[in-house]
Amino acid sequence: MIKLNDPTLLRQASLVGGQWIEADDTGLAVTNPATGEVIGHVPNLGRNETRAAIAAAQTAQKAWAKRTAKDRAQVLRRWFDLMMDHQDDLGAILTAEQGKPLAEAKGEIAYGASFIEWFAEEARRAYGDVTPGHAPDKRIITIKQPIGVVAAITPWNFPNAMITRKAGPAFAAGCAMVLKPASQTPFSAIALAVLGERAGLPAGLFSVITGSARAIGVEMTGNQTVQKLTFTGSTEIGAMLYAQCAPTIKKLGLELGGNAPFIVFNDADLDAAVESAVIAKFRNNGQTCVCANRIYVQAGVYDTFAEKLATKVAALPTGNGFDEGIIFGPLIDQAAVDKVAEHVTDATSKGATVTLGGKVHALGGTFFEPTILTGVTADMAVATEETFGPVAPLFKFDTEAEVVAAANDTEFGLASYFYSRDLARVWRVSEALEYGMVGINTGLISTAEAPFGGVKMSGLGREGSRYGLDDFMELKYLCMGGI
Ligand code: ADP
Repeated sequence: MIKLNDPTLLRQASLVGGQWIEADDTGLAVTNPATGEVIGHVPNLGRNETRAAIAAAQTAQKAWAKRTAKDRAQVLRRWFDLMMDHQDDLGAILTAEQGKPLAEAKGEIAYGASFIEWFAEEARRAYGDVTPGHAPDKRIITIKQPIGVVAAITPWNFPNAMITRKAGPAFAAGCAMVLKPASQTPFSAIALAVLGERAGLPAGLFSVITGSARAIGVEMTGNQTVQKLTFTGSTEIGAMLYAQCAPTIKKLGLELGGNAPFIVFNDADLDAAVESAVIAKFRNNGQTCVCANRIYVQAGVYDTFAEKLATKVAALPTGNGFDEGIIFGPLIDQAAVDKVAEHVTDATSKGATVTLGGKVHALGGTFFEPTILTGVTADMAVATEETFGPVAPLFKFDTEAEVVAAANDTEFGLASYFYSRDLARVWRVSEALEYGMVGINTGLISTAEAPFGGVKMSGLGREGSRYGLDDFMELKYLCMGGI
Protein backbone atom coordinates (compact mmCIF):
# COMPACT_ATOMS: atom_id res chain seq x y z
CA MET A 1 0.00 0.00 0.00
CA ILE A 2 1.17 3.54 -0.69
CA LYS A 3 2.00 5.54 2.44
CA LEU A 4 0.16 8.85 2.35
CA ASN A 5 -0.15 11.70 4.82
CA ASP A 6 -3.76 12.07 3.70
CA PRO A 7 -5.04 8.58 2.76
CA THR A 8 -8.39 10.02 1.61
CA LEU A 9 -6.63 11.22 -1.55
CA LEU A 10 -6.41 7.64 -2.82
CA ARG A 11 -10.08 7.14 -3.51
CA GLN A 12 -11.31 4.02 -5.31
CA ALA A 13 -14.27 5.77 -6.86
CA SER A 14 -15.43 7.89 -9.79
CA LEU A 15 -17.03 11.30 -9.40
CA VAL A 16 -20.10 11.42 -11.65
CA GLY A 17 -22.24 14.54 -11.69
CA GLY A 18 -21.35 15.39 -8.10
CA GLN A 19 -21.91 11.82 -6.79
CA TRP A 20 -19.11 9.47 -5.84
CA ILE A 21 -19.51 5.95 -7.22
CA GLU A 22 -17.35 3.45 -5.35
CA ALA A 23 -15.61 0.55 -7.11
CA ASP A 24 -17.36 -2.78 -6.60
CA ASP A 25 -16.31 -6.28 -7.60
CA THR A 26 -16.61 -5.38 -11.31
CA GLY A 27 -13.97 -2.70 -10.74
CA LEU A 28 -10.81 -2.37 -12.82
CA ALA A 29 -7.49 -3.14 -11.14
CA VAL A 30 -4.73 -0.53 -11.24
CA THR A 31 -1.20 -1.90 -10.94
CA ASN A 32 2.21 -0.54 -10.07
CA PRO A 33 4.36 -1.04 -13.19
CA ALA A 34 7.52 -1.35 -11.08
CA THR A 35 6.24 -4.31 -9.06
CA GLY A 36 3.09 -5.61 -10.73
CA GLU A 37 1.24 -5.13 -7.41
CA VAL A 38 -2.40 -4.09 -7.48
CA ILE A 39 -2.72 -0.60 -5.95
CA GLY A 40 -6.52 -0.59 -5.94
CA HIS A 41 -9.62 -0.66 -8.11
CA VAL A 42 -11.73 1.91 -9.93
CA PRO A 43 -15.34 1.56 -11.12
CA ASN A 44 -15.93 0.11 -14.57
CA LEU A 45 -18.39 2.68 -15.91
CA GLY A 46 -19.76 3.31 -19.40
CA ARG A 47 -22.27 5.21 -21.50
CA ASN A 48 -25.02 5.74 -18.93
CA GLU A 49 -22.78 7.30 -16.32
CA THR A 50 -21.12 9.44 -19.00
CA ARG A 51 -24.51 10.69 -20.18
CA ALA A 52 -25.52 11.50 -16.59
CA ALA A 53 -22.26 13.36 -16.00
CA ILE A 54 -22.75 15.41 -19.17
CA ALA A 55 -26.29 16.37 -18.13
CA ALA A 56 -25.07 17.44 -14.67
CA ALA A 57 -22.21 19.34 -16.28
CA GLN A 58 -24.65 21.31 -18.41
CA THR A 59 -26.57 22.49 -15.34
CA ALA A 60 -23.44 23.26 -13.33
CA GLN A 61 -21.82 25.10 -16.25
CA LYS A 62 -24.62 27.61 -16.61
CA ALA A 63 -24.31 28.73 -13.00
CA TRP A 64 -20.49 28.65 -13.08
CA ALA A 65 -20.35 30.86 -16.18
CA LYS A 66 -22.55 33.45 -14.47
CA ARG A 67 -20.09 33.88 -11.62
CA THR A 68 -17.47 36.57 -12.01
CA ALA A 69 -14.10 35.64 -13.44
CA LYS A 70 -12.53 36.70 -10.16
CA ASP A 71 -14.79 34.35 -8.25
CA ARG A 72 -13.85 31.44 -10.52
CA ALA A 73 -10.20 32.42 -10.21
CA GLN A 74 -10.38 32.21 -6.42
CA VAL A 75 -11.68 28.64 -6.56
CA LEU A 76 -8.89 27.70 -8.98
CA ARG A 77 -6.32 29.38 -6.79
CA ARG A 78 -7.50 27.29 -3.81
CA TRP A 79 -7.26 24.17 -5.96
CA PHE A 80 -3.68 25.11 -6.89
CA ASP A 81 -2.80 25.68 -3.22
CA LEU A 82 -4.26 22.31 -2.22
CA MET A 83 -2.27 20.54 -4.94
CA MET A 84 0.93 22.12 -3.71
CA ASP A 85 0.03 21.39 -0.06
CA HIS A 86 -0.40 17.73 -1.03
CA GLN A 87 2.47 17.58 -3.51
CA ASP A 88 4.15 14.66 -1.69
CA ASP A 89 1.00 12.53 -1.61
CA LEU A 90 0.02 13.32 -5.19
CA GLY A 91 3.58 12.50 -6.26
CA ALA A 92 3.48 9.17 -4.42
CA ILE A 93 0.16 8.20 -6.03
CA LEU A 94 1.60 9.14 -9.42
CA THR A 95 4.79 7.11 -8.96
CA ALA A 96 2.81 4.12 -7.74
CA GLU A 97 0.55 3.95 -10.78
CA GLN A 98 2.85 5.36 -13.48
CA GLY A 99 6.35 4.33 -12.43
CA LYS A 100 8.29 7.58 -12.88
CA PRO A 101 10.79 8.37 -10.11
CA LEU A 102 9.28 10.13 -7.10
CA ALA A 103 11.27 13.35 -7.60
CA GLU A 104 10.09 13.50 -11.22
CA ALA A 105 6.51 12.76 -10.11
CA LYS A 106 6.59 15.60 -7.58
CA GLY A 107 7.98 17.79 -10.34
CA GLU A 108 4.99 16.87 -12.47
CA ILE A 109 2.62 17.85 -9.65
CA ALA A 110 4.23 21.31 -9.46
CA TYR A 111 4.14 21.58 -13.25
CA GLY A 112 0.52 20.38 -13.36
CA ALA A 113 -0.52 22.76 -10.59
CA SER A 114 1.14 25.64 -12.43
CA PHE A 115 -1.52 25.41 -15.15
CA ILE A 116 -4.25 25.90 -12.55
CA GLU A 117 -2.36 28.87 -11.10
CA TRP A 118 -1.73 30.39 -14.54
CA PHE A 119 -5.33 30.06 -15.71
CA ALA A 120 -6.64 31.34 -12.37
CA GLU A 121 -4.69 34.48 -13.25
CA GLU A 122 -5.78 34.48 -16.90
CA ALA A 123 -9.48 34.03 -16.04
CA ARG A 124 -9.83 37.79 -15.55
CA ARG A 125 -8.14 38.66 -18.83
CA ALA A 126 -10.58 37.19 -21.34
CA TYR A 127 -10.78 40.56 -23.04
CA GLY A 128 -13.02 41.28 -25.98
CA ASP A 129 -12.65 44.31 -28.24
CA VAL A 130 -14.43 47.18 -29.92
CA THR A 131 -13.78 47.72 -33.63
CA PRO A 132 -14.65 50.92 -35.55
CA GLY A 133 -17.91 50.27 -37.36
CA HIS A 134 -18.49 49.86 -41.09
CA ALA A 135 -21.28 52.47 -41.12
CA PRO A 136 -21.62 55.81 -39.29
CA ASP A 137 -24.41 54.46 -37.06
CA LYS A 138 -22.80 51.10 -36.27
CA ARG A 139 -20.24 49.75 -33.84
CA ILE A 140 -18.66 46.30 -33.73
CA ILE A 141 -18.11 44.61 -30.39
CA THR A 142 -16.50 41.23 -29.83
CA ILE A 143 -16.98 39.33 -26.57
CA LYS A 144 -15.67 35.95 -25.46
CA GLN A 145 -17.91 33.36 -23.86
CA PRO A 146 -17.24 29.86 -22.52
CA ILE A 147 -17.73 27.05 -25.03
CA GLY A 148 -19.91 25.14 -22.56
CA VAL A 149 -19.58 21.45 -21.67
CA VAL A 150 -16.18 19.99 -22.53
CA ALA A 151 -15.23 16.32 -22.63
CA ALA A 152 -11.61 15.38 -21.97
CA ILE A 153 -9.66 12.17 -22.54
CA THR A 154 -6.13 11.99 -21.16
CA PRO A 155 -3.13 9.62 -21.31
CA TRP A 156 -1.01 7.83 -18.71
CA ASN A 157 2.38 9.49 -19.30
CA PHE A 158 1.50 12.67 -17.37
CA PRO A 159 -1.43 11.54 -15.22
CA ASN A 160 -1.70 14.91 -13.49
CA ALA A 161 -0.47 17.61 -15.87
CA MET A 162 -2.35 16.48 -18.97
CA ILE A 163 -5.53 16.98 -16.96
CA THR A 164 -4.73 20.34 -15.39
CA ARG A 165 -3.61 21.76 -18.73
CA LYS A 166 -7.18 21.20 -19.94
CA ALA A 167 -9.15 21.70 -16.73
CA GLY A 168 -7.39 24.98 -15.83
CA PRO A 169 -8.43 26.90 -18.95
CA ALA A 170 -11.82 25.15 -19.12
CA PHE A 171 -12.86 26.20 -15.61
CA ALA A 172 -11.25 29.63 -15.91
CA ALA A 173 -13.24 30.28 -19.07
CA GLY A 174 -16.48 29.16 -17.40
CA CYS A 175 -16.80 25.69 -18.94
CA ALA A 176 -17.65 22.36 -17.24
CA MET A 177 -15.60 19.22 -17.83
CA VAL A 178 -16.27 15.50 -17.98
CA LEU A 179 -12.96 13.64 -17.89
CA LYS A 180 -11.94 10.11 -18.74
CA PRO A 181 -8.42 9.51 -17.46
CA ALA A 182 -6.20 6.72 -18.79
CA SER A 183 -7.09 3.37 -17.26
CA GLN A 184 -3.47 2.78 -16.20
CA THR A 185 -3.36 5.98 -14.09
CA PRO A 186 -6.83 6.95 -12.81
CA PHE A 187 -5.87 7.58 -9.17
CA SER A 188 -4.01 10.81 -9.96
CA ALA A 189 -7.14 12.10 -11.70
CA ILE A 190 -9.41 11.04 -8.85
CA ALA A 191 -7.14 12.72 -6.30
CA LEU A 192 -7.46 15.93 -8.33
CA ALA A 193 -11.24 15.60 -8.14
CA VAL A 194 -11.10 15.12 -4.35
CA LEU A 195 -9.06 18.32 -4.03
CA GLY A 196 -11.30 20.10 -6.53
CA GLU A 197 -14.30 19.44 -4.30
CA ARG A 198 -12.38 20.77 -1.29
CA ALA A 199 -11.40 23.87 -3.26
CA GLY A 200 -15.03 24.63 -4.01
CA LEU A 201 -15.60 23.44 -7.57
CA PRO A 202 -19.41 23.16 -7.63
CA ALA A 203 -21.04 19.73 -7.78
CA GLY A 204 -21.30 18.45 -11.35
CA LEU A 205 -18.79 20.90 -12.82
CA PHE A 206 -16.00 18.31 -12.89
CA SER A 207 -16.71 14.61 -13.36
CA VAL A 208 -14.04 11.91 -13.51
CA ILE A 209 -15.30 8.72 -15.14
CA THR A 210 -13.28 5.52 -15.16
CA GLY A 211 -14.13 2.46 -17.19
CA SER A 212 -14.47 1.39 -20.79
CA ALA A 213 -12.62 3.87 -23.02
CA ARG A 214 -14.70 2.92 -26.03
CA ALA A 215 -18.10 3.24 -24.33
CA ILE A 216 -17.25 6.49 -22.57
CA GLY A 217 -15.67 7.85 -25.76
CA VAL A 218 -18.71 7.02 -27.89
CA GLU A 219 -20.99 8.96 -25.53
CA MET A 220 -18.60 11.90 -25.22
CA THR A 221 -18.19 12.26 -28.98
CA GLY A 222 -21.82 11.63 -29.89
CA ASN A 223 -23.59 13.65 -27.20
CA GLN A 224 -24.97 16.90 -28.59
CA THR A 225 -24.53 18.73 -25.27
CA VAL A 226 -20.75 18.36 -25.44
CA GLN A 227 -19.41 21.33 -27.38
CA LYS A 228 -15.75 20.44 -27.35
CA LEU A 229 -13.58 17.36 -27.05
CA THR A 230 -10.04 17.80 -25.82
CA PHE A 231 -7.81 14.75 -26.19
CA THR A 232 -4.17 13.92 -25.52
CA GLY A 233 -2.97 10.56 -26.76
CA SER A 234 -2.03 8.65 -29.87
CA THR A 235 -2.64 9.97 -33.38
CA GLU A 236 -4.53 6.78 -34.19
CA ILE A 237 -7.13 7.22 -31.42
CA GLY A 238 -7.18 11.00 -31.98
CA ALA A 239 -8.11 10.54 -35.64
CA MET A 240 -10.85 8.11 -34.67
CA LEU A 241 -12.30 10.52 -32.09
CA TYR A 242 -12.10 13.36 -34.65
CA ALA A 243 -14.26 11.29 -37.01
CA GLN A 244 -16.67 10.39 -34.20
CA CYS A 245 -17.11 14.11 -33.44
CA ALA A 246 -17.92 15.05 -37.04
CA PRO A 247 -21.69 14.40 -36.98
CA THR A 248 -22.17 16.82 -34.05
CA ILE A 249 -19.57 19.36 -35.30
CA LYS A 250 -17.64 19.60 -32.05
CA LYS A 251 -14.66 21.82 -31.49
CA LEU A 252 -11.54 19.70 -31.15
CA GLY A 253 -8.36 20.09 -29.18
CA LEU A 254 -5.93 17.30 -30.10
CA GLU A 255 -2.46 16.77 -28.66
CA LEU A 256 -1.20 13.76 -30.56
CA GLY A 257 2.02 11.95 -31.34
CA GLY A 258 5.36 13.51 -32.19
CA ASN A 259 8.60 12.46 -33.82
CA ALA A 260 10.87 15.17 -32.45
CA PRO A 261 14.22 15.83 -34.10
CA PHE A 262 17.10 16.99 -31.89
CA ILE A 263 19.80 18.53 -34.10
CA VAL A 264 23.35 19.22 -32.99
CA PHE A 265 25.42 21.40 -35.34
CA ASN A 266 29.21 21.48 -35.37
CA ASP A 267 29.17 24.93 -33.77
CA ALA A 268 27.05 23.84 -30.78
CA ASP A 269 28.12 24.07 -27.16
CA LEU A 270 28.59 20.31 -27.06
CA ASP A 271 28.44 19.75 -23.31
CA ALA A 272 25.22 21.74 -23.09
CA ALA A 273 23.82 19.79 -26.04
CA VAL A 274 24.63 16.47 -24.37
CA GLU A 275 23.07 17.63 -21.10
CA SER A 276 19.90 18.67 -22.92
CA ALA A 277 19.75 15.56 -25.05
CA VAL A 278 19.63 13.48 -21.87
CA ILE A 279 16.62 15.48 -20.68
CA ALA A 280 14.89 15.75 -24.06
CA LYS A 281 15.34 12.08 -24.82
CA PHE A 282 15.15 10.29 -21.51
CA ARG A 283 12.72 12.30 -19.38
CA ASN A 284 9.92 10.01 -18.20
CA ASN A 285 11.98 7.18 -19.74
CA GLY A 286 11.34 8.50 -23.23
CA GLN A 287 7.59 8.31 -22.76
CA THR A 288 6.55 11.83 -23.69
CA CYS A 289 5.23 13.13 -26.99
CA VAL A 290 7.91 15.86 -27.01
CA CYS A 291 10.78 13.44 -26.36
CA ALA A 292 13.63 13.65 -28.86
CA ASN A 293 12.94 10.68 -31.11
CA ARG A 294 15.68 11.28 -33.69
CA ILE A 295 19.02 12.81 -32.73
CA TYR A 296 20.88 14.30 -35.73
CA VAL A 297 24.53 15.13 -35.12
CA GLN A 298 26.77 16.90 -37.64
CA ALA A 299 29.73 14.84 -38.84
CA GLY A 300 32.38 17.03 -37.18
CA VAL A 301 31.12 16.34 -33.64
CA TYR A 302 29.30 13.02 -34.11
CA ASP A 303 31.81 10.71 -32.42
CA THR A 304 32.51 13.05 -29.50
CA PHE A 305 28.80 13.65 -28.93
CA ALA A 306 28.06 9.91 -29.00
CA GLU A 307 30.82 9.22 -26.48
CA LYS A 308 29.82 11.99 -24.10
CA LEU A 309 26.15 10.99 -24.25
CA ALA A 310 26.95 7.34 -23.51
CA THR A 311 29.13 8.29 -20.53
CA LYS A 312 26.38 10.48 -19.08
CA VAL A 313 23.54 8.05 -19.57
CA ALA A 314 25.50 5.02 -18.35
CA ALA A 315 25.86 6.71 -14.96
CA LEU A 316 22.10 7.11 -14.41
CA PRO A 317 20.45 4.42 -12.24
CA THR A 318 17.38 2.39 -13.19
CA GLY A 319 14.95 1.01 -10.60
CA ASN A 320 11.75 1.38 -8.59
CA GLY A 321 10.73 5.05 -8.68
CA PHE A 322 10.32 5.06 -4.89
CA ASP A 323 14.02 4.28 -4.36
CA GLU A 324 16.39 7.17 -3.70
CA GLY A 325 18.21 8.65 -6.68
CA ILE A 326 16.51 6.60 -9.41
CA ILE A 327 16.38 8.30 -12.82
CA PHE A 328 14.84 5.57 -14.98
CA GLY A 329 11.69 3.82 -13.80
CA PRO A 330 9.89 0.98 -15.56
CA LEU A 331 8.04 1.39 -18.85
CA ILE A 332 4.27 1.57 -18.50
CA ASP A 333 3.50 -1.97 -19.73
CA GLN A 334 4.72 -4.96 -21.72
CA ALA A 335 3.46 -3.52 -25.03
CA ALA A 336 5.75 -0.54 -24.49
CA VAL A 337 8.71 -2.86 -23.87
CA ASP A 338 7.89 -4.86 -27.01
CA LYS A 339 7.82 -1.74 -29.17
CA VAL A 340 11.15 -0.49 -27.83
CA ALA A 341 12.76 -3.92 -28.34
CA GLU A 342 11.36 -4.08 -31.88
CA HIS A 343 12.84 -0.69 -32.74
CA VAL A 344 16.25 -1.77 -31.47
CA THR A 345 16.15 -5.07 -33.36
CA ASP A 346 14.99 -3.36 -36.55
CA ALA A 347 17.80 -0.79 -36.33
CA THR A 348 20.55 -3.32 -35.64
CA SER A 349 19.30 -5.64 -38.39
CA LYS A 350 19.77 -2.71 -40.81
CA GLY A 351 23.28 -1.86 -39.65
CA ALA A 352 23.02 0.30 -36.50
CA THR A 353 25.36 -0.34 -33.57
CA VAL A 354 24.26 -0.54 -29.94
CA THR A 355 26.75 1.52 -27.94
CA LEU A 356 24.79 1.39 -24.67
CA GLY A 357 22.02 -0.85 -23.34
CA GLY A 358 19.88 -2.43 -26.03
CA LYS A 359 17.89 -5.03 -24.11
CA VAL A 360 15.40 -5.73 -21.34
CA HIS A 361 16.93 -4.72 -18.00
CA ALA A 362 18.21 -7.34 -15.55
CA LEU A 363 15.53 -6.08 -13.13
CA GLY A 364 12.99 -7.80 -15.40
CA GLY A 365 9.34 -6.74 -15.56
CA THR A 366 8.93 -3.71 -17.79
CA PHE A 367 12.38 -2.27 -17.10
CA PHE A 368 14.46 -1.60 -20.24
CA GLU A 369 18.07 -0.52 -20.41
CA PRO A 370 18.66 3.08 -21.50
CA THR A 371 19.93 2.59 -25.03
CA ILE A 372 22.08 4.48 -27.50
CA LEU A 373 22.30 3.51 -31.17
CA THR A 374 24.89 4.88 -33.60
CA GLY A 375 25.05 4.62 -37.38
CA VAL A 376 21.28 5.08 -37.62
CA THR A 377 19.77 5.75 -41.06
CA ALA A 378 16.45 6.91 -42.52
CA ASP A 379 15.30 3.42 -43.52
CA MET A 380 15.02 2.26 -39.90
CA ALA A 381 11.72 2.28 -37.95
CA VAL A 382 13.16 4.72 -35.37
CA ALA A 383 13.30 7.36 -38.14
CA THR A 384 9.58 7.37 -38.84
CA GLU A 385 7.81 5.96 -35.75
CA GLU A 386 7.60 7.34 -32.24
CA THR A 387 9.60 4.91 -30.05
CA PHE A 388 8.14 6.17 -26.75
CA GLY A 389 10.95 4.59 -24.79
CA PRO A 390 14.58 5.01 -23.69
CA VAL A 391 16.29 4.65 -27.07
CA ALA A 392 18.48 7.43 -28.46
CA PRO A 393 19.18 6.86 -32.16
CA LEU A 394 22.05 8.99 -33.50
CA PHE A 395 21.91 9.96 -37.20
CA LYS A 396 24.95 11.58 -38.87
CA PHE A 397 24.51 14.55 -41.24
CA ASP A 398 26.71 16.93 -43.25
CA THR A 399 24.77 20.04 -44.25
CA GLU A 400 22.09 22.30 -42.78
CA ALA A 401 19.83 21.82 -45.82
CA GLU A 402 20.12 18.05 -45.54
CA VAL A 403 19.23 17.93 -41.85
CA VAL A 404 16.29 20.34 -42.15
CA ALA A 405 14.85 18.19 -44.95
CA ALA A 406 15.35 15.04 -42.87
CA ALA A 407 13.85 16.63 -39.75
CA ASN A 408 10.74 17.70 -41.68
CA ASP A 409 10.35 14.36 -43.44
CA THR A 410 7.61 13.09 -41.12
CA GLU A 411 3.85 13.44 -40.86
CA PHE A 412 4.29 14.72 -37.30
CA GLY A 413 5.08 18.28 -36.19
CA LEU A 414 5.04 18.70 -32.40
CA ALA A 415 8.38 19.53 -30.74
CA SER A 416 11.82 20.01 -32.30
CA TYR A 417 15.17 21.01 -30.84
CA PHE A 418 18.49 22.21 -32.13
CA TYR A 419 21.85 23.38 -30.83
CA SER A 420 23.83 26.07 -32.65
CA ARG A 421 25.61 29.31 -31.73
CA ASP A 422 25.38 30.87 -35.19
CA LEU A 423 22.72 33.59 -35.00
CA ALA A 424 21.81 33.52 -38.68
CA ARG A 425 21.46 29.74 -38.62
CA VAL A 426 19.31 29.93 -35.50
CA TRP A 427 16.81 32.09 -37.39
CA ARG A 428 16.96 30.07 -40.61
CA VAL A 429 16.47 26.71 -38.93
CA SER A 430 13.79 27.97 -36.50
CA GLU A 431 11.75 29.23 -39.43
CA ALA A 432 12.35 26.15 -41.58
CA LEU A 433 11.35 23.50 -39.03
CA GLU A 434 7.73 22.44 -39.61
CA TYR A 435 6.88 22.08 -35.94
CA GLY A 436 4.59 23.77 -33.42
CA MET A 437 7.48 24.18 -30.98
CA VAL A 438 11.22 24.70 -31.37
CA GLY A 439 13.69 24.45 -28.51
CA ILE A 440 16.81 26.47 -29.40
CA ASN A 441 19.78 25.55 -27.23
CA THR A 442 17.43 23.95 -24.74
CA GLY A 443 15.75 20.59 -24.33
CA LEU A 444 13.07 21.69 -21.92
CA ILE A 445 10.31 23.81 -23.41
CA SER A 446 6.99 23.02 -21.71
CA THR A 447 5.65 25.62 -19.31
CA ALA A 448 2.27 27.10 -18.44
CA GLU A 449 3.24 30.45 -19.98
CA ALA A 450 3.92 29.07 -23.48
CA PRO A 451 1.60 27.66 -26.17
CA PHE A 452 2.03 23.89 -26.40
CA GLY A 453 0.80 22.17 -29.53
CA GLY A 454 1.60 20.71 -32.89
CA VAL A 455 1.11 21.06 -36.63
CA LYS A 456 0.46 18.36 -39.26
CA MET A 457 -0.67 15.07 -37.70
CA SER A 458 0.46 16.14 -34.23
CA GLY A 459 -2.81 17.87 -33.56
CA LEU A 460 -5.06 20.88 -33.32
CA GLY A 461 -5.10 23.82 -30.93
CA ARG A 462 -2.75 25.03 -28.21
CA GLU A 463 -2.62 24.37 -24.47
CA GLY A 464 -1.13 26.73 -21.90
CA SER A 465 -0.37 30.44 -22.46
CA ARG A 466 -2.95 33.13 -23.13
CA TYR A 467 -3.95 31.24 -26.29
CA GLY A 468 -4.89 28.23 -24.17
CA LEU A 469 -7.83 30.15 -22.71
CA ASP A 470 -9.10 31.06 -26.18
CA ASP A 471 -9.37 27.37 -27.02
CA PHE A 472 -12.16 27.08 -24.44
CA MET A 473 -14.04 30.21 -25.53
CA GLU A 474 -16.20 31.25 -28.45
CA LEU A 475 -16.08 34.69 -30.02
CA LYS A 476 -19.41 36.46 -30.22
CA TYR A 477 -19.87 39.47 -32.47
CA LEU A 478 -22.35 42.12 -31.39
CA CYS A 479 -23.37 44.58 -34.08
CA MET A 480 -24.75 47.74 -32.50
CA GLY A 481 -26.84 49.85 -34.86
CA GLY A 482 -28.99 52.96 -34.62
CA ILE A 483 -26.30 55.06 -32.98
P1 ADP B 1 -1.48 5.61 -25.43
O1 ADP B 1 -0.83 4.84 -26.52
O2 ADP B 1 -0.68 6.74 -24.90
O3 ADP B 1 -2.11 4.76 -24.36
P2 ADP B 1 -4.08 6.11 -26.45
O4 ADP B 1 -4.44 7.05 -27.53
O5 ADP B 1 -4.33 4.65 -26.68
O6 ADP B 1 -2.58 6.42 -26.16
O7 ADP B 1 -4.79 6.49 -25.09
C1 ADP B 1 -4.99 7.83 -24.67
C2 ADP B 1 -6.34 7.92 -24.00
O8 ADP B 1 -7.34 7.57 -24.96
C3 ADP B 1 -6.51 6.98 -22.83
O9 ADP B 1 -7.30 7.63 -21.85
C4 ADP B 1 -7.29 5.84 -23.45
O10 ADP B 1 -8.04 5.12 -22.50
C5 ADP B 1 -8.18 6.59 -24.41
N1 ADP B 1 -8.76 5.75 -25.46
C6 ADP B 1 -8.22 4.66 -26.05
N2 ADP B 1 -9.06 4.14 -26.95
C7 ADP B 1 -10.17 4.91 -26.95
C8 ADP B 1 -11.41 4.90 -27.65
N3 ADP B 1 -11.69 3.97 -28.56
N4 ADP B 1 -12.32 5.86 -27.38
C9 ADP B 1 -12.06 6.80 -26.46
N5 ADP B 1 -10.91 6.87 -25.77
C10 ADP B 1 -9.98 5.94 -26.01
